[in-house]
Amino acid sequence: MTRNPVERALMARGVDSALARRLREEKWTLAKLQLQRPEKLLDLGLSETVVPVILGKVRPPIPHDVLIKTLYDNRWLCCVCRDADRPIIVHHIKPWAESRDHSPANLAVLCSIHHGEAHSRHALELTLTPDRLKASKAAWEQEVSRLDPLAIFKSTQLMSCQWWYFNHFRVFEITRHVGVDVTQLDGYQGALRNAACDADGYLCCREGFLYVGHALALSLYRYMTDMLRAIMVFACVRNISDDLDRGTLGCLITNGDLVFVQGSYSFSDMPADSTGADLVRGRRSVNNVEISFVFDRNEGTSGSARTNWLLGVQTLGCLLRVNSIQRDLRETLHIKATVLAIRSAHHELKGRLYEVGLYQSGLIGHEGDEFEDVDNAYDEEGGKSDGALPF
Ligand SMILES: [Zn+2]
Ligand SMILES: [Zn+2]
Repeated sequence: MTRNPVERALMARGVDSALARRLREEKWTLAKLQLQRPEKLLDLGLSETVVPVILGKVRPPIPHDVLIKTLYDNRWLCCVCRDADRPIIVHHIKPWAESRDHSPANLAVLCSIHHGEAHSRHALELTLTPDRLKASKAAWEQEVSRLDPLAIFKSTQLMSCQWWYFNHFRVFEITRHVGVDVTQLDGYQGALRNAACDADGYLCCREGFLYVGHALALSLYRYMTDMLRAIMVFACVRNISDDLDRGTLGCLITNGDLVFVQGSYSFSDMPADSTGADLVRGRRSVNNVEISFVFDRNEGTSGSARTNWLLGVQTLGCLLRVNSIQRDLRETLHIKATVLAIRSAHHELKGRLYEVGLYQSGLIGHEGDEFEDVDNAYDEEGGKSDGALPF
């Protein structure tokens, strides 16, 4: 897997992923290409439509954040065939020349074959019409948005995996917020029987550890797991374990998003306060991205959770709600979050192996690379509120 902004800059100008990679491997950069004669660019394999775009003569490149989001939402796969072995290209559903439209709605990720079809006419009819393209794109993006939550839940059904912590009241609040009737959840009856909740499903308050007594602990755990699963049906949860990259993360997530991050976390105790809570700060730092959150260890789901898993340095998966994203003077991206749940790690969630072909084209930027998208400066702090659930 390579990670390179040069490829991103070329794809923003209509180059397919395979050619972008080859040019980058041959040490070309956008700036160097722009100094070449058109004939030379054709020799390098760039098409007649792409050459003027590279030279900046016909249209501006697709903005950085739109490109990243479009590729991410489509998992770097053609929305028609989803074949991970084919190079991809970002195509304008309504041609740029007519639409001047670089918005995500007008962009489709296509493989080289389907891109050819989208541009070729058969008996004067487009083979792959804009309507058909839009339908394929919508269907694929919808399926993609279901993949992360599904994978997170499927792997908790394995014996070795479990939740070590729930932010009980926050999870309850969000479950109700998305319109779920908690009394209809499978785990509700058991939780009620064991006094983990009242008749309306509200969690019973308790001093100190929440998980005391076998029956109560089991029923509360089940009830909480059901709530989390219900939330996942309504809210979009993104597994960004692989995307902790300050160059692209700002385009992918926004305040209010639910994200899942698996990796190494360090937990440090915070000074005791008067509430009796056992407050802990959790932190994950990687690639100049720092995620931090505070939680109460008393809400750990078992003795071993409290005395082992939520201490020191551990490899775990955390379900988080993003509260703020900020860049400091040293260019570190700080994400302050509310932790909703913490679970044991699962190898499939770290590498996102469940998503065939993800990141094959390696478009996620890399710290060591020069930043190629000079003409695409984007606003990292800019609040993108569209589509965020107001939790
Ligand atoms: Zn295709
Ligand atoms: Zn096209």
